[in-house]
Amino acid sequence: MRLEQPDGRGRFGAYGGAFAPETLMPALAELESAFVDAWADPAFHRDLERLLTTYVGRPTPVYHAERLSEELGLHLYLKREDLAHTGAHKINNTIAQVLLTTRMGKPRVIAETGAGQHGVATATACALFGLDCVVYMGEKDIERQALNVYRMRLLGAEVIPVTSGAGTLKDAVSAALRDWVASVGDTHYVIGSVVGPHPFPWMVREFQKVIGEELRNQLDGSPGSPTPDIIVAPVGGGSNAMGIFYPYAGDEGVRLVGVEAAGFGIRTGKHGASLGEGSPGVLHGAMTYLLQDRHGQVLEAHSISAGLDYPGVGPEHAYFKDEGLVEYASVTDDDAVVAFHRLSRTEGIIPALESAHGLAWIVEHAAELSGATVVLNLSGRGDKDVQQVAAMYD
Ligand SMILES: *Cc1c(COP(=O)(O)O)cnc(C)c1O
Repeated sequence: MRLEQPDGRGRFGAYGGAFAPETLMPALAELESAFVDAWADPAFHRDLERLLTTYVGRPTPVYHAERLSEELGLHLYLKREDLAHTGAHKINNTIAQVLLTTRMGKPRVIAETGAGQHGVATATACALFGLDCVVYMGEKDIERQALNVYRMRLLGAEVIPVTSGAGTLKDAVSAALRDWVASVGDTHYVIGSVVGPHPFPWMVREFQKVIGEELRNQLDGSPGSPTPDIIVAPVGGGSNAMGIFYPYAGDEGVRLVGVEAAGFGIRTGKHGASLGEGSPGVLHGAMTYLLQDRHGQVLEAHSISAGLDYPGVGPEHAYFKDEGLVEYASVTDDDAVVAFHRLSRTEGIIPALESAHGLAWIVEHAAELSGATVVLNLSGRGDKDVQQVAAMYD
């Protein structure tokens, strides 16, 4: 059964919790009570809704992809998160968290970013509210993602290179946590997915569930508007998937499928399928499924798509998996790239590589889904991925 909120220890069944340094516990408690207070306050909802409407561009449309539907023999609808400001669902969360930061009276925000998408969404929200913004980013990622680094700086954020470890996302998370331990008095840490210690997974789910709530009104079974038989979404940390799944979780007759990265192929060990191939353990403050060796060392994930290249997953997904509320599958880099091309050519929509994983799963299962109403959460636009695909495949 789906849970309204985690239990008193911040757990969804066996998963979640707050495995954090002692010094952060007061900040997490402060954040939880600020969130609970804001979420019960109509004034907060009014401010947030106004921004989601006039600034982010919500509700995002649901588009019936007719040409591709005909080719696949099913009814394919796209929930167009790619049309949200900054080009993905991430802004739903950063706008809400930064609004909450102003309510807490904190003038400074920190974040970490891998490919830069969450950094850009956070820098955008900070520019909107006039808050100081510091983004930690691995030095290797800074080299690979020069355009997003420049975007963040344009938006007024300070991007701090992290040179420790492998110089990628995991190290940037550690650096952001170190900053937070020293700065909790005046700083909020904006986490970018349904991951991290309680209350983040719950709070970020609440901020993203607008996606599924809108969908319910858009495909509502009225004449000319079917109801979904199946909803498919890519899963990295799990926030866009949680956002579209949560309002439907437990509904009879709606199948929910989360698609992880199979990378070079599950058997190569180079993938990001933490729910499919991982096992329970603690990562970044929460008990969840993660990729680890037999000694509990966290393994490097691999995906062509930076948003799916993460060795863990949000704890509520771990709970959904064990409860059988959502099925989790995976798709390889190569199949995602084929789907990336296919949606571009048949519908004139270049999807994010993350979203292309979801489409690839639908293509692969088209025969079994014949005649069904299928919704794909098109989590983001693919402009950010065009150069990479061109360099690797054309
Ligand atoms: C970041 C990102 C993802 C993966 O993050 P989730 O928290 O799993 O949603 C998926 N799609 C796009 C477009 C992204 O930018």
